[in-house]
This record gives sequence, structure tokens and C-alpha cells, in this order.
Amino acid sequence: MSMQFCPECGGPLVPHVVAGQRRNHGWCPACHAPRYESPMIVVTCFVASGPRLLWIRRALPPKAGLWAIPGGYLEGGEGLAEGAARELREETGVVLAPDNLQLYMTGTLTFINQIYVGFRATVDTDFSLAGAESLDCGFFSREECPWDQVAYPEVNDAIEQAYRDLETDTFEVWHAEMTGASYTLRPVATR
Ligand SMILES: [Zn+2]
Repeated sequence: MSMQFCPECGGPLVPHVVAGQRRNHGWCPACHAPRYESPMIVVTCFVASGPRLLWIRRALPPKAGLWAIPGGYLEGGEGLAEGAARELREETGVVLAPDNLQLYMTGTLTFINQIYVGFRATVDTDFSLAGAESLDCGFFSREECPWDQVAYPEVNDAIEQAYRDLETDTFEVWHAEMTGASYTLRPVATR
């Protein structure tokens, strides 16, 4: 529990104890309500044109100037694919309907308190246009990719997997579990 004060009333929180067990979130005695520190949800989209994937060069901190797969935080009231399509549109100018995005990767990133949901899509052209949150964007093959300038090398394995899937034209749905100490990426059983 790292949140110290109630976001509603500003009063101090105490640990929430449920059935004698201390849980990993706070309790506001003034509001008589639990105060969760739920993970933020990050939605991304792997857009392929032939063997190339669409990348953006981040304009905003953190990691400004470095390259990433287009994505961002899900907004309240937004569907997962809807949010991924919005981030894609904002960052790259590539307009795809949420229905055209297929679920591709999910993950828990406990060390940064985030849930990750990645979609995939294919396009016919290499068109992209950097938006307000990106300095640049473009489609890169695995060889063309600026691997020494990526924003989140922690997830390079997942991106390498996406390139392998493109090369073999076989797409599993993947699930990643990342903690500060370990990392696994496994296909979700689909049959
Ligand atoms: Zn309160």
C-alpha cells in the first residue's frame, strides 16, 4: 500500500483488513470506503505492413525521443480496442476501426502496476504521420528497427515475438507475466 491519503476526502488512509487479513490497499475511515490502487491499463497496437511493424518516436516524457510500439493509457468509458485505435490514430495518423483490431497480447506488469493489452492489425500501405505525442513514426522490419533506441527494452521479447509471428504468419494470443524479478511469455491455449 503506497497511497497515503484518500483521493475523495484527503484524509489519511489505514490498511484495509478483510477477515483478519491485511490487504494491499487502503481504507478511508472518514468515507468508510476502500481505496484501491488499481493498475493502469495500457493499450497498444502492433500494425503490420508486410514484414514491417509500425513504431513511434515518443515526443513526451517519459522516454521522449525513444521508439515504442504505438499505445497509451486507456481512458475511462473506453473499450480496449477503442482505446488502442485512438492511441494509434493520435500517434501515427493510421485510422483503423476498433473491430479491425485483433486481441494479440495481454500482460501483467506488477513492477510498474500496469495491465497491458495489445492488439494487432495489418495495413496495405506504409502511410503514417506523426501526431502531437510523437516526433516521428514509421514501419520497420526487424533489421531496420532502432533496437538501441527503444523506450522499453523490458518488452523487447514481446516485440521480437511479433516479428517472428509475422515471418511465420502464425499468430497465437500471448500472455506475459512480468515482475521486477521474472518474465514469462506464453501462448494462451486456444484449442
Ligand atoms: Zn475519504
